[in-house]
Amino acid sequence: MVALALRSGPIVLPGLWLGASLVAFLSSGGGLWHAIAVGLATCLEPVVVLLLVPRLMRSRDPLDSLHDFVGLYGASALGVLLSIGAIRLLHPAGLDASLAFLLHFAGILALTPFLAALPGPGDPAGLQRLRHELRRPDWWGLLLAITLSTVLINGGFLPALSLTPLALLFPLLLVAGFRFLPVAATGLNLLAAMLQTWFVFVGSDLLPASSDLVLRSVMARLFCGVLFLALMILVTNLQQRRMRARLEEQARELEEMVASRTQELTAANVRLEQLSHQDSLTGIPNRRSFQRRFDTEWQRALRHQMPLSIGMLDVDYFKAYNDHYGHPAGDHCLEQIAAVLEASLGRSGDLVARYGGEEFVVLLPGLPAEGLGPIGEKLRSSVSALGLPHAQGGPEGIVTVSLGLATAVPQEGSTPKELLAVADALLYQAKKEGRNRLCWMPRPL
Ligand code: GH3
Ligand code: MG
Ligand code: MG
Repeated sequence: MVALALRSGPIVLPGLWLGASLVAFLSSGGGLWHAIAVGLATCLEPVVVLLLVPRLMRSRDPLDSLHDFVGLYGASALGVLLSIGAIRLLHPAGLDASLAFLLHFAGILALTPFLAALPGPGDPAGLQRLRHELRRPDWWGLLLAITLSTVLINGGFLPALSLTPLALLFPLLLVAGFRFLPVAATGLNLLAAMLQTWFVFVGSDLLPASSDLVLRSVMARLFCGVLFLALMILVTNLQQRRMRARLEEQARELEEMVASRTQELTAANVRLEQLSHQDSLTGIPNRRSFQRRFDTEWQRALRHQMPLSIGMLDVDYFKAYNDHYGHPAGDHCLEQIAAVLEASLGRSGDLVARYGGEEFVVLLPGLPAEGLGPIGEKLRSSVSALGLPHAQGGPEGIVTVSLGLATAVPQEGSTPKELLAVADALLYQAKKEGRNRLCWMPRPL
């Protein structure tokens, strides 16, 4: 009754009352009203448990904590006490009270946790787990082993054996507990309990039929209840161990995943850093990259009082080139120009960058003003040497470039911008003077 009430709630109480009254009516012969009263007294047990358990237990599992364990069995003991007290009032000549208490309490101990642990209709995952478990063949093997051994030993078929059912069932149930989830293990326990109870009533070599029936019943229930508790404690421990191992495994996997993702991210960042300094069309450094190098070289030249030269370079009549040959051809032209400019520079510190559109910039650390002419000419002629036809350009009929070059020996207070502005002005002058030429400053700024 307690197990049913715990599983399904107060809705079962009227049914329990009716059942208990019927049993009292059939067995005691005290009349209808007396039977109804005995039924009510009997129902005190589940009622007290239902009232107290929600206040005393934090979870549905009595083995979840000592608190819950004491809560469930404390409430049950009180319910049993009140119920037996009330029945005794109605039935002064009934059972011995302390024996009746033991009988009821041992029954609760043996069966309540099992029924409460069964998954209900509101727990589809639990039902699924139970179904899956029941399909395992080893479960049935164990079931058979337990049934056979209990029947053989209790049935007196093996009289020479000194083994008691307790000696055999206990290790078998432990095996079950280790192999299966609590529900299946408790299912096996229920089977053992039923067999054991049956043998208690018909008598066996452990509990001869001559001993007192109620006492034998109490013993059987206590036996099953203690078995159940020992088993559940072991199962709970085992589950905790498995869960801990799984958590550790998951933590390790997570760490590995984080490490590999970090590595990928670092590689992606390196690539992104490279891309952010590269011109996507020509593959040479972009303006941002030039600006950074220019500032660094400027500081270095300032410290060592060394010359720093730059050249601004612009493709001549490039708008017309695009208009005549199309943008894709213009792109290809820029790619080729970038490649030859880069190839023309020999020194390791030199840098060619795409400044924007069809403009390029060269950075020449340590190059004095006297070197501007030769290097400028080398750059200009390397583009002409490509011999890219340009029908709408200058008289040469090929793609040409103009350059403005300047040098500075940086001083405190002067800025890289000034040098850039001078080179730009010289480029403008080269354009004005007819293009395909260079203008440079013979002395440093
Ligand atoms: P100038 O001789 O005075 O330099 O004349 P220009 O036509 O070269 O100069 P302008 O500044 O008028 O035109 C530059 C052209 O460069 C305009 C634009 O269509 C082209 N251009 C800029 N960036 C790109 C690019 O990435 N690809 C292509 N195909 N063309 C570009
Ligand atoms: Mg331009
Ligand atoms: Mg141009």
